Order: sequence, then C-alpha cells, then structure tokens
Amino acid sequence: MMNQKAGWNLENSYARLPELFFSLIEPNPVRSPNLVILNQPLAESLGLNADALRAEDGVDILAGNRVPEGSLPLAQAYAGHQFGNFTRLGDGRALLIGEQLTPNGERFDIQLKGSGRTPYSRGGDGRAALGPMLREYIISEAMHGLGIPTTRSLAVVTTGETIYRETELPGAIMTRVASSHLRVGTFEYAYHWGMPADIKALADYALERHFSEVEKKENTYLTLLEEVIKRQAKLIAQWQLAGFIHGVMNTDNMSICGETIDYGPCAFMDDFASDTVFSSIDIQGRYAYGNQPSIGVWNLARFAETLLPLLHEEQEKAIELAENALSTFKDWFHNHWQYGMRAKLGLFGEEKQDEALIGELLHLMEKHRADYTNTFLALTFDRKEDHALFNHLDFTKWREKWQARRERQSESMADSLQLMKDSNPAVIPRNHRVEEALEAAVNHRDYSVMEKLLDVLSDPYAHTAEQAEYATLPPDDGQCYKTYCGT
Ligand code: AMP
Ligand code: MG
Repeated sequence: MMNQKAGWNLENSYARLPELFFSLIEPNPVRSPNLVILNQPLAESLGLNADALRAEDGVDILAGNRVPEGSLPLAQAYAGHQFGNFTRLGDGRALLIGEQLTPNGERFDIQLKGSGRTPYSRGGDGRAALGPMLREYIISEAMHGLGIPTTRSLAVVTTGETIYRETELPGAIMTRVASSHLRVGTFEYAYHWGMPADIKALADYALERHFSEVEKKENTYLTLLEEVIKRQAKLIAQWQLAGFIHGVMNTDNMSICGETIDYGPCAFMDDFASDTVFSSIDIQGRYAYGNQPSIGVWNLARFAETLLPLLHEEQEKAIELAENALSTFKDWFHNHWQYGMRAKLGLFGEEKQDEALIGELLHLMEKHRADYTNTFLALTFDRKEDHALFNHLDFTKWREKWQARRERQSESMADSLQLMKDSNPAVIPRNHRVEEALEAAVNHRDYSVMEKLLDVLSDPYAHTAEQAEYATLPPDDGQCYKTYCGT
C-alpha cells in the first residue's frame, strides 16, 4: 500500500551475480532521522512521489530504518588501486536498496551512503557526516546541471546521531542514484578473487546493463573495453572543459558506465593551472587537473587487464587487442576536448590553426593566472576584466586573431555568441560558495543558503543576473583551499 503511494518499483538484478560480488545485509537503524533536502525533480523522474518520501514512512526508508517492498539490501564488493596501490575494498558505509525501474523503463541503483557498518567496513564506523554528504549533493547536482554524466543525489537525512572524526559531527545519510555502481574496481575484484566464470558473468552483466544498444563486435568483450574507454574519454574531456578536478581518481572511483562518481575531495579550479590539486591527501599531485587524462588511461589499463582472459585465449593476442583499444583513448579524448574548446570560443567547423589558437589562450591564462571560468565568460560577453591578462599585449593580439577566425566562418556572430553562451557556464560551484552553504547548513541548520546555490547551479547556461553574483571570486583568490576525503 505504502509502496504504491511512494512509487517504489525495485528490482535486484545485481543480486543475481555470483555471491562473491556482494553481501546481503540488514539495514542499521538510526536514532531520529530528519529530512534535510529532497530532490523533487529527480524523485519525479524516478517515478517516486515526493510527498510520500517526505512523510515519516518515506524518511524512514531514506534513513535505512526500513526497506521498501521489493528491496534486497546489499553491500557491493570491489577492489581498487588507491593512489596506485591495490587494495580490497567494498561498500564499507553504503548499501544498495535496489534498482528503481522508472516510468521511462530506465534502471537506476538507489544507494544509501553513510548507512552503517557492512562486512567491508574494515576499521570504519560505516557512517558519514552531514557536511560531506551535502557537499556531494551540491557538486553532483551542479555536474548534472553542467551536462556532465554523473551519479545524482535524491536526498540527505540527518540521523540524529553524532559521529566522531577529529571533532564531533552530525551524522547523515545521502541517497545516491546511479546508472549502476559497477566500477573498474569491481572487475579488479573479480579478477583477483574470483574464477574466470565470475569475470565473464560480470562482463556479461555490464554489457547487458549499459551497452545493450551498442552494436557488438564478434568479440563482445572487446566491445565492452572499447565502449568503456570511449565513455571515460568523453567524461574526462568534459571534466577538463569545465575545470573540474575529481581529486581521487582511484580505480574504485571509476564507473564502467562513464558517470562521475564519488565526490570526496573534488573541486572546481579557479585560476587556470594544470598542476592544481585541492585534495589534502594528494601530496604528490597524482590527481592534479592536468594529469586526469593520463590517469584515466592508467585506470583503463587496469580494467583491460581484468578482461584479458576474455579477450583472447592466447595471452599475447589478448594483450595486443587491449593495447590497441587503449591507444584509442588519446584520440577520443582529444576530439571531444577540441570540439568542446571550439564551442567555448564560438567556433564552428574546424581550421588547421584552431589547435594553436586554443593552446595559446590556455598558455596565456596559465601564465597570468587568469580565472578559468570567468575568462571564457568575459570572452563570451566581450568584456574586459580588471586582470593582468586583459591588459597584456599578447592577449590583445590573441583576441584579434580569434575575432578574425570568428568572422571567417559562415555562421553569424549571433550564432557564435549563442554557442558560447551554451558552452560557458555562468556559474560553477566555487569553493567559497559551497563552504558558505555548508557552514550555514551544518552549524546553524540553515539550509536556505544551499537551496539558493542549488537553484543557480541547476541551469548554469541561463546567464541570469542572479548567477552573475555567484561568479565573483573569493577574496583571497581561493588558492589555499583544501578539500578533505568525505569520511
Ligand atoms: P572513498 O574514499 O569514499 O571512495 O572510500 C574508499 C573506501 O573506504 C570504500 O570502500 C568505502 O566504503 C570505505 N569507507 C570510507 N569511509 C568509511 C567509513 N566511515 N566506514 C567504513 N568504510 C568507509
Ligand atoms: Mg569510493
């Protein structure tokens, strides 16, 4: 009865994989759940009734105090290369309540993050704090607004319990919605601790779940590898174009379906600098902005290794197939990135000199430490910023070359302007704005700052007056900003 009202329509295809891949678990009830935020449009697109989710019964489900009918709660097993080191992992503080089948016939994992201990928790308490859960909510919804594939956030509830980190913090649970939680690390887990039949079962499941529409080669596992490479190349190109730094590109945080997943120490870059790192734990700069494409290839090579036995019975041939597939990443990435950069500059078609034109701009931006997002906005609206870059002769000369290139194309200036407006966000979740929203939410339980921020981030290409307010830079340039793993 209640189920019908809330609209839960759950399936559990993942639980049909070999047992190795999961542990069925009982939810861990929390003391007094309280709904902090609910994503109404997302709820509706999932076929869920937002009012029913807000009611006591609904919140109990979002807190893991009760499971909806049709749910088979489980924690997923996986492994991962964390900063290059291989480790056995798994959902240590999350549970999958099931896969929601939407009115459109799509399937999404519904996962509670921060829901308590599981067999994979190791020394952890299985819990999450309100700040990091809201941070994931804000950034993942901002990514969605930017048009970048991502897991999404349905809700955050506080648990009424205190969790202990360096200080006492309010506990919270986030409901994460994902096309799936299959990771490169899931395959690594199968490869290291499963039998060949387990990898095959997982690969078949991934093909069926994410690539059913793709035309298959005779060697379907080669298709799987190639498609995952293509999706990651496109995703990482979109990160680079938006100035997004994931911060912890471990193989357990790389999704097979090509969505951005696991918003721990991520952030958007202010000044353009390839070596930008925000994560406090990334001392070596392994996951710096400029390294993301090559780390992507490294992670995909770990994925390819797990597929070798399926690619060909002769190892040498399998390696050759995998290497050929991996070598295509570079071109996929470059094509997406170049196409995106030309759009940011209002350029249609392709000229031989485009690459140099783009490179020169980025070089000047880096040299003069210009703000990445706002420089493109200034170009879009033909503004001169009060910044060293804009006063430099080299930049003036570059601007003339760029204008000449725009004038040479057959499309009108109005079309070029529209392309730029559609490709350059008016607003990104700037660190100081995110922190301001979290401070009000966590310390004062004032969620209005966050709601307003989410509102301007929901359609970043709208270019409203209100969004202009959010484009201002932090007083100290934000250079000292650090992000911490969401533990
Ligand atoms: P993450 O850094 O969030 O990608 O998590 C890395 C691994 O640590 C995953 O296996 C998580 O499930 C696990 N983990 C993170 N925080 C906790 C926690 N508080 N309790 C138990 N496991 C955790
Ligand atoms: Mg993770």
